[in-house]
Amino acid sequence: MTETVDLQIQKLLKSARSVVIAAHIRPDADAVGSLLGLGLPLLAEGKQVQLVLQDGLPEKYAFLPGAERVARSIRSGFDTLITVDCSDPKRLGSVLEGLPIPDLNIDHHQTNLNFGKINLVEADAPATALVLAEHLPRWGLTVDANAAQCLLTGILGDTIGFRTSGTDARTLRTAADLMDRGANLPLVYRQTLLSRSIPELRYWGQGLTRIQHEDKLLWTVLTLDDRIKAVYPENDDADLINLLSSVSGLRVVVLFIQQTQDRVKVSWRSAEGIDVSTIAFEFGGGGHSAAAGADVEGSLEEVVSKVLHRTRQLLEAS
Ligand code: 5GP
Ligand code: MN
Repeated sequence: MTETVDLQIQKLLKSARSVVIAAHIRPDADAVGSLLGLGLPLLAEGKQVQLVLQDGLPEKYAFLPGAERVARSIRSGFDTLITVDCSDPKRLGSVLEGLPIPDLNIDHHQTNLNFGKINLVEADAPATALVLAEHLPRWGLTVDANAAQCLLTGILGDTIGFRTSGTDARTLRTAADLMDRGANLPLVYRQTLLSRSIPELRYWGQGLTRIQHEDKLLWTVLTLDDRIKAVYPENDDADLINLLSSVSGLRVVVLFIQQTQDRVKVSWRSAEGIDVSTIAFEFGGGGHSAAAGADVEGSLEEVVSKVLHRTRQLLEAS
């Protein structure tokens, strides 16, 4: 008889003594919330746990319990390796270089490469944190108030405050359950979705002045120079994409975030009926139908040109 995935995971976690959990580069609320939301219950079971984000923990998530435990690299030996919210091992940066295949891959991206020994990938879940909130009790782990706070952060981040099309009654029930366990929704909402710094606004300003649009396609760029001028410390888009995709009447929004002179992060957002994860995947990335991204080699000009060309084709075809 084949063992259920939950049983396999329960066994894996029971025998684990020293666990590494890693999530993706340019970590968002779901990456951080899932990392801590799994890490804290394992710590409570007496396991040694290393929480790893190659880019470190963004300051805005410092309010989360356990935030101080996040490191940028693996510091010591371990017996169990877990990735969360990561569809492709490349998205972990160099964290896994030279390491064996992860024991467990927990995710919710439809483009997940199923690269773990065990893969728990639920593409219909709006956040990895929601997958964890539902499964942790089945693995014999306890979701206390601290873990609940982290998991709610992940759910709120990926659903942008319960407003993405994947938000369903199951999402709200799980969130309510996390609140029953002690998660503070108003605090999580404020920290994750509302609170902005002056550098973030300056950085947005740079991108907003360069907006271009053609019919139902809108795009803009954020350069390395913008980041320096704005004194913005992260290498992501500071959620500018959410503002851009709030413009009514659009079908696709693309944001280009220069990473180095020859590498650009691309983010796509689309209206219903347009699957941008397919083109993100073609460019070596991945994601969801309505929200996808890729790290693309090339100068800013080259990447803008080839990505827009392909995006226009997708728009024409749909
Ligand atoms: P964002 O554009 O906000 O970075 O990401 C949108 C969605 O696409 C998220 O679910 C994110 O995990 C995924 N994504 C973004 N960049 C990449 C990438 O380079 N590779 C893969 N596989 N997925 C990505
Ligand atoms: Mn996610």
